[in-house]
Amino acid sequence: MPDNKTKYIFVTGGVTSSLGKGIISASLAKLLQARGYSVTIQKLDPYINVDPGTLNPYEHGECYVTEDGAETDLDLGHYERYLDSPTSQANNVTTGRIYQHVINKEREGAFLGKTVQVIPHITDEIKRRVRLLGRTGKYDIVITEIGGTVGDIESLPYIEAVRQLKWDPEVDCIVIHLTLVPYLSTSGELKTKPTQHSVKMLQESGVQADVLVLRTEQPIPEDVKKKVALFCNISQDAVIESANAETIYEVPIFMQEEKLDQVVLKKLDLPGKQEPDIEEWKAFLAKLKNPKRSINIGLIGKYIELKDSYISIHEALIHAGAKNDTAVKVHWIHSEGLEKENIADKLGGLDGILVAPGFGERGIEGKIAAVEYARKQKVPFLGICLGMQCAVIEFARHELGLMGAHTTEIDKNCPDPVIFLMEEQKTVTDKGGTMRLGAYECKINPNTKAAKAYGKELIKERHRHRFEFNNKYLDQFKEKGMIASGINPGGGMVEIVEIEDHPWFVGVQFHPEYSSTVLNPHPLFVEFISAVIKENHRELAVKEN
Ligand code: GLN
Repeated sequence: MPDNKTKYIFVTGGVTSSLGKGIISASLAKLLQARGYSVTIQKLDPYINVDPGTLNPYEHGECYVTEDGAETDLDLGHYERYLDSPTSQANNVTTGRIYQHVINKEREGAFLGKTVQVIPHITDEIKRRVRLLGRTGKYDIVITEIGGTVGDIESLPYIEAVRQLKWDPEVDCIVIHLTLVPYLSTSGELKTKPTQHSVKMLQESGVQADVLVLRTEQPIPEDVKKKVALFCNISQDAVIESANAETIYEVPIFMQEEKLDQVVLKKLDLPGKQEPDIEEWKAFLAKLKNPKRSINIGLIGKYIELKDSYISIHEALIHAGAKNDTAVKVHWIHSEGLEKENIADKLGGLDGILVAPGFGERGIEGKIAAVEYARKQKVPFLGICLGMQCAVIEFARHELGLMGAHTTEIDKNCPDPVIFLMEEQKTVTDKGGTMRLGAYECKINPNTKAAKAYGKELIKERHRHRFEFNNKYLDQFKEKGMIASGINPGGGMVEIVEIEDHPWFVGVQFHPEYSSTVLNPHPLFVEFISAVIKENHRELAVKEN
């Protein structure tokens, strides 16, 4: 399919940030996909980091890793969870990456004699990146979400690129603009002025929105929609209400009711093909909303103040819960405050314990204490990346008697480096994009908990780490009952550990949460939840932490 057959949809936001552009983009993509179109979603991020891998999760939430090893914005996680198809580096572009490319070209002499400028050089590079996905020939529709809010200085080159693309005869595109319609309870009114200003601001940059999605906490009456349409140069059918949903997975259904997909197809001059086939999605929603039981899972991490730091883990728990007809109540527990003395108090009411990924020293002893509690109390346990490494350290200290066991990430000269720097990392000095990243194969040993979960021998999972299990200790661990149940076939790296004499205790060096989707919940999460259910025939009281 030539690029000029691919249609482009830009999603911009105004009035405030955090309106949920990612969820609206993913929901629209879902509906279009369900009509038989091949769709992908791209995120353009206006910050100057080359990728979010060097950002603290407090700043920007989780760093999501694609199969091809790109460290990307967490919205890509939503795209994959909704569409059930993988994204790649091409699906996330930052200002840093754009400038880096243009400046490298300038150094190579690609623009010799010319002044390199935002327009056209930066905007040309933005446009090239947008069309890259279309040019693969794989997609009928590319949805490009523009991060930030219209009016931000750093968004300007992106909006300018959209303006240019709207006038490009080779490109067929529309713009969806998301705004907020606040409700003033004192006057009992919905206010459209911020939306009008936001649309006007977009117009000042030469871009006319084709569709408006209005985020609201109150139903928007027809006459208000009519008014918005009139003031904003938009047809009335293209003013879409986006009400608060109980769960983000309801939004595609809301958008279908609002006919967002129909309006978009009409504006793009594309046929409806068929009514969206979202039966499986609805079946998931039905299970999600009508659970047979409820369980309490403790998520032990150190970035819990910003829940977006662990968003893929949270969603994977929700998917796996629904698959098991179970509501998962996630308790966010700070690892920093956890100590042997208070652990029973803090973790006592939990049915399952998950120790999260992470970096650095802060909170690590709390994570190790949580592992010890889960292991000894026989509480189902899942450790992810640093969580798995903590499980290894805890076992070494308390079962192998290696009290000085640690990871060399924290203690370079510890007597027993059961977790140590990977060989390939020893010469690495740069911090950006240099971890072991992306999907690698893992061979699963038969008759293990991992084998039962996956039901196959060879799997592929995504990674993001520099440290690994030290194979020198493998036999000692095995002797005491912690086995390596998954090994990287090429390099011999331990990818999965588990304890045989425990209801369910699994640690994984990789990140299963990245590949859990609504239609395909991750098997490890599904097994974890089902182990929790098996262990707890009683209903435990919800314990707030
Ligand atoms: N800090 C650990 C490592 O680099 C774990 C990383 C993680 O949890 N993603 O190996």
